[in-house]
Amino acid sequence: MKKALVCGAGGFIGSHLATRLKSEGFWVRGVDLKLPDFSSSSADDFLIGDLRNQSFVDKVMDQNFNEIYQLAADMGGAGYIFTGENDAVIMHNSATINLNVLEAARKKNNKNIFYSSSACMYPEYNQTDPDNPNCQEDSAYPANPDSEYGWEKLFSERLYLAYNRNHGMDCKVARYHNIFGPEGTWDGGKEKAPAAICRKIALVEENGSIEIWGDGKQTRSFLYIDECIEASIRLMRSDFEGPVNIGSDEMVTINQLVSITKSISNKRFSVNHIEGPTGVRGRNSDNSLIQEKLGWSPSAKLSDGISKTYSWIQDQIIKMS
Ligand code: NAD
Repeated sequence: MKKALVCGAGGFIGSHLATRLKSEGFWVRGVDLKLPDFSSSSADDFLIGDLRNQSFVDKVMDQNFNEIYQLAADMGGAGYIFTGENDAVIMHNSATINLNVLEAARKKNNKNIFYSSSACMYPEYNQTDPDNPNCQEDSAYPANPDSEYGWEKLFSERLYLAYNRNHGMDCKVARYHNIFGPEGTWDGGKEKAPAAICRKIALVEENGSIEIWGDGKQTRSFLYIDECIEASIRLMRSDFEGPVNIGSDEMVTINQLVSITKSISNKRFSVNHIEGPTGVRGRNSDNSLIQEKLGWSPSAKLSDGISKTYSWIQDQIIKMS
């Protein structure tokens, strides 16, 4: 039986990935500081522990795995990664996890590791025009990410590729662009724009108002979770090491995202623009390379994914009340 290890299996993407691998017949080990927040894990074996601790990581890696997915990171939405208050912790925690996982894998001759980097590693100077951001993979240098979270991702991408060159590993590097869907964080400060907007709209009273950070003219694209899992697995099983974007190229402004969610909700309300962390002015996934290398690009419409996410968040709110 094939074996997979999912680091970060208690998180949003990791828990969906564990379910997918299990459905393919893998024996799955999940590892995280915590179990998934919204459902039980599909993993056969779930180790709770801290991947910053090398001796724990050695225990996690006590056998050979056909596929290792390294998704664990200190992570959050704009309210967590763009305020500057958590920079040192984010860099320290995520870099330590990646250093530990790679070294333990190397010692055990576990060569196949998928690493989830982020579009946050792209330079800010290519993302100032909301209508024309450049996020082609080869636009990464000269580097100038707009957050320390992005700098850590860039460092770790290089680390995985250096292990390929120097230690004969077979690591794959993906750059995720705003993944969303059911069972993602939706409140508490670490949620991202689609979940935050769905929550605000689900909670707003008829003819009330919701708050949006910035003028809402900043652009982004959002990829539905099922497509993210499909692309990640395809990259893992390909002979392309990346880095490659995994994202949608259906670019919208935050105001358009609000409008899409508003029409799904059938509610009437106004929008109040307030000061808040907004990140770069424009960002969109460039999917030429993934299409060329994997013969794949996402097809789901943003509104379909938002519709599923909105219903799920509505259910969560009802459960909590
Ligand atoms: P998430 O926060 O839901 O999952 C990350 C998991 O890592 C969490 O469950 C957390 O408990 C775990 N973790 C953190 N520190 C740990 C430690 N020291 N030891 C063990 N586990 C630890 O985030 P996600 O949205 O599922 O993202 C998964 C990966 O994809 C992350 O690396 C993230 O940076 C990357 N990514 C995500 C997005 C997105 O839009 N969701 C975009 C770009 C990149």
